[in-house]
Amino acid sequence: MQFVPFDKRAWHAGKSEFRGREVCNDFSIGIELEGTDDGPYEDIQYRRLLQVTAALLVAYPTLALDRIRGHSDIAPGRKTDPGPFFDWERYRRGLAALPLVS
Ligand SMILES: [Zn+2]
Repeated sequence: MQFVPFDKRAWHAGKSEFRGREVCNDFSIGIELEGTDDGPYEDIQYRRLLQVTAALLVAYPTLALDRIRGHSDIAPGRKTDPGPFFDWERYRRGLAALPLVS
C-alpha cells in the first residue's frame, strides 16, 4: 500500500540524519515493511521490496545502492526497523541481480 506519492513529502523518517544531512524526510523515500523486531520477514515481502526498489532506481537516477539504509541507520537509538531479522545480505544480493543495476 502506498500512502504518499514518491514525489511528495512524507513524515516517515522523523528526526534523522544521513551522511551529515539532517531531516531525511526532505530528501528520502521511506519504505515500511510490516513486521516486528522479533521475527523474520516473508519471502513475498522481499520480492515486493525488490520490485519497488527496482522501480525507484529507474525513476530516480540519483538513488544508488549505497544510499539505501534502514530506518535504524538514520535514526539510531530511536528506531529499530527493519530490525535484526531483516536479511540485508539477501536484499543486497537481490538488488545486485537486477538487470538494471550495474
Ligand atoms: Zn520505519
